[in-house]
Amino acid sequence: MTELPANSPTHRGMPLHTKILIGLLIGVSLGLLCNYLGTVPKDYSQDLNGNGQIDGYYEHWLSDSDSNELRGWLDDVIYWAKPVGSVFLRLMFMVVVPMVFAALTLAVVEIGDVRKLGMIGLKTLGFTAILSTAAVLIGVGLVNGLQPGRSLTPEQRAKLLNDEDNSKGAAKNMDKAKQAKPVRDVLVDLLPENPLQEMVGAVDGSSKGNGMLAVMVFSLVCGIAITSRPEETKTFVAWLEGLYAIAMAVISFAMKLAPVGAGCLVFALSAQLGFGILKTLFWFVMTALLGLGLQLFVVYSILVMVFARRSPWSFFRDVSEAMLVAFGTSSSSATLPTAMEVAHDQLKLPSRVANFVLTVGATGNQNGTALYEGVVVLFLAQVMGVDLTASQQFTVVLMAVLAGVGTAGVPGGSLPLIVVVMQSVGIPGAAIGIILGVDRILDMCRTVVNVTGDLAIAACVASSEPADPAPQISTPI
Ligand code: ASP
Repeated sequence: MTELPANSPTHRGMPLHTKILIGLLIGVSLGLLCNYLGTVPKDYSQDLNGNGQIDGYYEHWLSDSDSNELRGWLDDVIYWAKPVGSVFLRLMFMVVVPMVFAALTLAVVEIGDVRKLGMIGLKTLGFTAILSTAAVLIGVGLVNGLQPGRSLTPEQRAKLLNDEDNSKGAAKNMDKAKQAKPVRDVLVDLLPENPLQEMVGAVDGSSKGNGMLAVMVFSLVCGIAITSRPEETKTFVAWLEGLYAIAMAVISFAMKLAPVGAGCLVFALSAQLGFGILKTLFWFVMTALLGLGLQLFVVYSILVMVFARRSPWSFFRDVSEAMLVAFGTSSSSATLPTAMEVAHDQLKLPSRVANFVLTVGATGNQNGTALYEGVVVLFLAQVMGVDLTASQQFTVVLMAVLAGVGTAGVPGGSLPLIVVVMQSVGIPGAAIGIILGVDRILDMCRTVVNVTGDLAIAACVASSEPADPAPQISTPI
């Protein structure tokens, strides 16, 4: 499948993630300054540092008239920052439906070749489904248990909800929660009556049925249908590849805007919420890292012990090189060659198993990403102060599992899909700005989980298959 254009340090000039980081730092700093100026009491003669002494510092560098001027200037900045952030988001929204449809259908077509590989393909699919579900359940369970999004004060949450864009989304979400459907109906609605109608309302959550989830199921059905008529559908598959390439190109335009767009989004948020948002983010990062750690060290250890009959310690030692490359590149696809080398040289897996499992896994098996998507959506729902019902949480789990299959193995590949899952349960897309600042580091960590998961599955599948025939040793002349 077509990948996002270069986003790596080898790209000319400063790497994109460094630019995003700089944009975010500027955005947060200006936002906090703005928040401080907006909330600092007029009476400067108070103990701002909490050190028991009257604090004259603020008074020294900012007179009343300066402060008013600065506030006026910052008001203008807020006024313009928000639409710039929205342009960045809309570039992603506009291609989300075609991207999901093309990516998932093509993923099934690729996996359709699984039949040719018989048992290897089936075992890979089985492990992928089990691991992705376990990952999302861990993530969702942790967010429900630890409630990282609840650390905002009621006033801060009220400020967020007072924001026009956010309040529209949150109100819609509360309505949705009130008329939430029972799980039985959610299951029936998985199959769309009219896929086009579901697509039209998928992004703003106004569809009649299950919206984006129904679109995802429709894509899976199309993919399965294509694999049953491979010859007659060749042209359509080529068309889908073109559509996917277009979506990726538009997302790469959005990523070029990311340093400014993401900076503007966090600026607006930190101006509204001040330091409270940083504390909330800290708990979000801790929850996501705990979930990824559990999946990596507990779930994978059990898996390799039970199915690959290997000691987890030696497994992790053998795959450490691929883990490090995944961490450094934030891309499962870029790590594929190293993962293959590790599978052959360190894990000593037969090539036909390793090549198949790792290639399909680089886009199709992204447990870390699935876990993260579940954590982000539930966290942002908590930040917005909305309790998702059981059936909405079920929708999030299903969508996160499927989104893990449709995510491109590139840095930030999951961001558009996270927006999709958020929108489908009524959380405003702009809320993604809250986590963008910490996304890169978490991307590095979830990519490690994604790549290690592929290697763990390869080791498990290989242990149940006969070994490759011994290579012919040619005698040097
Ligand atoms: N960077 C991840 C990967 O390549 C995808 C994502 O979660 O954004 O595996």
